[in-house]
Amino acid sequence: MSDARTDDLPLLEVRDLVRHFRLRGKSIFSKPSVVRAVDGISFQLRAGETLGIVGESGCGKSTMGRLALGMDDPTSGDVRFEGRSFSDHSIQAWRKDRCNMQMIFQDSYGALDPRMSVARQIREPLDIHGIGSIADRDKQVDEMLDAVGLSRVVRERFPHELSGGQQQRVVIARALVLRPKLIVCDEPVSALDVSVQAQVVNLLAKLQEQFQLAYLFISHDLGIVRHICERVAVMYLGKIVETADCRTLFDKPLHPYSRALISAIPIPDPDIQTDRLILEGDPPSPVDIPSGCRFHTRCAFAEAKCRNEEPQLRLVEDGRHAACHFAERWTS
Ligand code: SF4
Repeated sequence: MSDARTDDLPLLEVRDLVRHFRLRGKSIFSKPSVVRAVDGISFQLRAGETLGIVGESGCGKSTMGRLALGMDDPTSGDVRFEGRSFSDHSIQAWRKDRCNMQMIFQDSYGALDPRMSVARQIREPLDIHGIGSIADRDKQVDEMLDAVGLSRVVRERFPHELSGGQQQRVVIARALVLRPKLIVCDEPVSALDVSVQAQVVNLLAKLQEQFQLAYLFISHDLGIVRHICERVAVMYLGKIVETADCRTLFDKPLHPYSRALISAIPIPDPDIQTDRLILEGDPPSPVDIPSGCRFHTRCAFAEAKCRNEEPQLRLVEDGRHAACHFAERWTS
């Protein structure tokens, strides 16, 4: 494939992705139930771009992140990396794309091997893929430590000797050492102290520029998403209900669910009053998804049509898609 063609392709393309999990019944007489964790999602991510995926816990965003990296097989649908479908991947293609795609997890301590020194953890992906000589690999470890702002003093330390922020920096260094094009960040700072969160988010932004990375940034923290993302997709019960560029979404959300999430962001100025939309109750179970619009059980604007007819994600305004029958009401 020519370079010109490759430049036109999105780095990552997800097409109508579905992941359902079958749960056994409590007894041999009860029917198995199906958890519809991801229920028909499509999006594209371009090289060097940051797409935020937001939504409450249990909306399927982490499952979607694993599917996007081929860490789990979809029930149906397709994921393409630089135009190549995962379903057609040979072992060699997987070996190559494993280097191109990496993940940063929420639980940095759990992601590290407690018996390995920092240097070995960062060097391990190079050892597995047989990249460079021993001396080259050690040099790369030092470069990665510098890139993530860790002193070389920590080289021979073990994970339990590091702070949470330092552990997450080691996880980031380990993900970066293979020089990937895409990193899926699954709640990368939510387990850290607030003071450290900002440092790690700023580090991710700096590394994106330095290494020309694309991020799929999964988070329930809208403040952080607003800071780092260019585009945002809002997920509710396994589906995307709104997508827009970050600034537009935060300034003027269209879908009632996005409006409720954004209105709940605390404003650090007691003199500013906002009309807060309160979300009633918990999200329904993904085993028993409501008919029609899946948000209708919690939506303050639901009408009869919402209970019977499922709204599709559609273009409402320039570059803005929303899955709500009445999204135009909030465009002006
Ligand atoms: Fe609310 Fe109806 Fe829009 Fe769903 S379709 S978000 S229930 S107004």
